[in-house]
Amino acid sequence: MNLHEYQGKELLKSFGVAIQEGFVAESVEEAVAASKKLNSDFCVIKAQIHAGGRGKGGGVKLAKNEGEVKEFAGNILGMMLKTPQTPGGVDGPGKLVRKVLVAEDVYAPDFDACKEYYVSILMDRDRKCNVIVTSTEGGMDIETVAHNTPELINKEYIDPRLGLQGFQTRKIAFGLGLSGQAFKEMTKFIAKLYKAFVSSDYSMFEINPCLKTGDDRILAVDCKVALDDNALFRHKDLAEMRDVSEEDPTEVEAKSFGLNYVNLDGNVGCMVNGAGLAMATMDIIKLSGGEPANFLDVGGTADAERVEKAFRIIMRDPSVKAILINIFGGIVRCDRVAQGVVDAYKNIGEVNIPIIVRLQGTNADIAKTIIDESGLEVHSAILLQEAADLVAKVIG
Ligand code: GDP
Ligand code: MG
Repeated sequence: MNLHEYQGKELLKSFGVAIQEGFVAESVEEAVAASKKLNSDFCVIKAQIHAGGRGKGGGVKLAKNEGEVKEFAGNILGMMLKTPQTPGGVDGPGKLVRKVLVAEDVYAPDFDACKEYYVSILMDRDRKCNVIVTSTEGGMDIETVAHNTPELINKEYIDPRLGLQGFQTRKIAFGLGLSGQAFKEMTKFIAKLYKAFVSSDYSMFEINPCLKTGDDRILAVDCKVALDDNALFRHKDLAEMRDVSEEDPTEVEAKSFGLNYVNLDGNVGCMVNGAGLAMATMDIIKLSGGEPANFLDVGGTADAERVEKAFRIIMRDPSVKAILINIFGGIVRCDRVAQGVVDAYKNIGEVNIPIIVRLQGTNADIAKTIIDESGLEVHSAILLQEAADLVAKVIG
């Protein structure tokens, strides 16, 4: 689950991490009121959407007076903001901006003395520990920095048994070329940031830019925060911060039916029970020359109703050219799934794409009979290879 910048900053602040102060607004009037509450004559108006690269897309504007606050907040609120990270990229439809953050312009007092850094914390799966990634090249696209100048990226790995050590925060600050007061501020910033990260089961913090001001303060100017969904049950307060309007509506709907669905770009829809089997099925689709259109785990208790919901969700994707249903009947009985498929097929009415069903396990033979006798155009397979060959055949 991702948070908005303004929510992420509130969280960081609650752990004592220094941030660029600001207030969220949903209308021009609220934006003006917010700008008056700030300790600064100048402010920055920032679109709140779950995507980075807002600055380049026109979603971050500096305002020098009330007139500009009105003008920029008016322009940004309600705009369809396109960035490389919104769906479809800059050529896509963009994302509707419902809120803006009105924050103090922390660069204004001494713009030339400001320096932007990059700081992020995430889990390194190979090393099985958290890593703090820093760079002097803040404010830009970090993937480009990593690609062109990998030597400008520093990584500090944190031993989970020891936690973040003092020498590591100092090493990070040295690595960023800091000295004096700014050096001290950076070590404090990193220590508090790390405490916030581990306390609430976050999966990613990205502070880009992390700013050194002219008077040597270190502040989070932007922040991208992702929470580990699997730990959300432990953080009810954080779960409430979810903004479903920012998420893929189909994925949100699927979740409400207890389906584990992720939309992908391919042409073969798949419905599977169990995450491992779903991954294997996606591999098979690729081997047979197709591309998976989605990841869909219907779970262990797939009944006819759930199968129908899943079916409808897959069918909605216009790029789907075939559907592969691959269910292993362990707890769930294959005949129930087969009945679900037949019912869904009949309820939906016109299904113009080939369906390949592989049901294996408890009552697989009854399931095959149900499908074969339904009179529907469904190809059934028992072996995975047969299913793969059928997929290859129908997508041509
Ligand atoms: P992003 O484009 O979505 O990553 O949004 P950011 O919050 O990172 O803002 C984009 C850029 O705007 C930053 O890299 C900064 O250089 C700039 N920016 C953000 N806040 C301020 C501010 O208060 N004053 C000035 N002068 N620039 C700012
Ligand atoms: Mg940024």
